[in-house]
Amino acid sequence: MLHTIKKMLRIIDKNLTILAVLEQKMKGRQTFVIKAKLTPYFSHCPHCTYTKDPFTEKQAVVKNGTKISRIRFDSFNHIPLVMELAKQRYFCRACMRHWTAQSYFVAPHCFIAKHVQTKILALLKEKISLRLIASLCHVSITTVIRVLKSTEVYLPTRKQTYLPSVLMVDEFRSHTSLEDKMSFICANGKTGQLVDILPSRKLNYLVHYFQKYSNRDCVQFLVTDMNAAYFQLIPRVFPQAKLIIDRFHVVQHLNRAFNTFRIKEVARLRQENKHHLANRLKSNWRFLLKDRVNINPSMYKTWRNFRAPKFPYLTEAMMIDRLLDFSPALRFTYQVFHELTEAFRRKDHERFFEQLQTLPDQLDETFRTTISHLLSYKEGIRNAMIYPYSNGKLEAMNTHIKTLKRVSYGFKSFQNMKTRIFLMNDLIKMT
Ligand SMILES: [Zn+2]
Repeated sequence: MLHTIKKMLRIIDKNLTILAVLEQKMKGRQTFVIKAKLTPYFSHCPHCTYTKDPFTEKQAVVKNGTKISRIRFDSFNHIPLVMELAKQRYFCRACMRHWTAQSYFVAPHCFIAKHVQTKILALLKEKISLRLIASLCHVSITTVIRVLKSTEVYLPTRKQTYLPSVLMVDEFRSHTSLEDKMSFICANGKTGQLVDILPSRKLNYLVHYFQKYSNRDCVQFLVTDMNAAYFQLIPRVFPQAKLIIDRFHVVQHLNRAFNTFRIKEVARLRQENKHHLANRLKSNWRFLLKDRVNINPSMYKTWRNFRAPKFPYLTEAMMIDRLLDFSPALRFTYQVFHELTEAFRRKDHERFFEQLQTLPDQLDETFRTTISHLLSYKEGIRNAMIYPYSNGKLEAMNTHIKTLKRVSYGFKSFQNMKTRIFLMNDLIKMT
């Protein structure tokens, strides 16, 4: 019976004997207490290796009392479990030394079983707060942080000396670092594997950081968005790299420019007291951004602000056409906008840039300046259409980081956050 309990606790130490299992209140909580003793046999002294005392010819190692320690185990059926372990103490007659028996499942001077540490480690990979982990394992939050810190030495960034041939770079808000509110993140563009997270995104810091890599020449592509100035890294640290502007950000930039213009038109219609037209244009904005290939030309139905008894049933194409009827300027801009996005989707970079360079004069001034801004990233956008790399995987990773930050109510320590992000991505291998 007592041997079965050992099996259930997953302890294979043959020197451990279970004496009793009790249930008692501990710190106000009902707790299972397992009484056990640990008495390994020593034929010789581990310090001086004598088996017999040279003077008296008696056995060198003798038992010398016990030391009781309370070891926390993982809870059993939702009830906390502790082991009151009586560790045998020994005395050597030859060298006059004392020592205590040590068990494999708990480190010296430690009162938490390795089983609990394994559980904490597994939970640290999940997107949950440190406080929740502490309460699930019946340990203090300091213990959880200590386990987290113990994995730091296994961080792959400690021994990494090479960069991938496609490097994705981005930033995310961290609030943990003193020098910068934004943290820098980079990953392998082919596999999506995280490369590193840095506390600052400042250019000089990044240049200094990347200079320590010896294979900087092997970086062929640097994928980034248009918001940040990471393309300046290319001449300074990646001489062979080509810039790729993330293609989702190009589309986003175009969409945003068109939406700003539409909002302007809505305001204009309101000023002209055409509130009903303005409302229709406002509530159906999504349809104007829709790819023209996907517009349904045949199904008749009722639409928002074009309700059925008052209006006839319309197809999606007819409804969009009605919206564009409200303003000739909007219809014109709609044409230009869609020709541009279609050329971009077709990856026809010649057509795309030709259109951008010859924008008609009738276009709204703000809209034109906004989209002409893309011309300053010509090289990067052209590469985005030629090569298959984008920042999609990195953006997905950023979303996970955001979730982790939210459930943890922010991080005080940048290092802890970094370790947890690596744990979350299963990149810390402890061997
Ligand atoms: Zn000895």
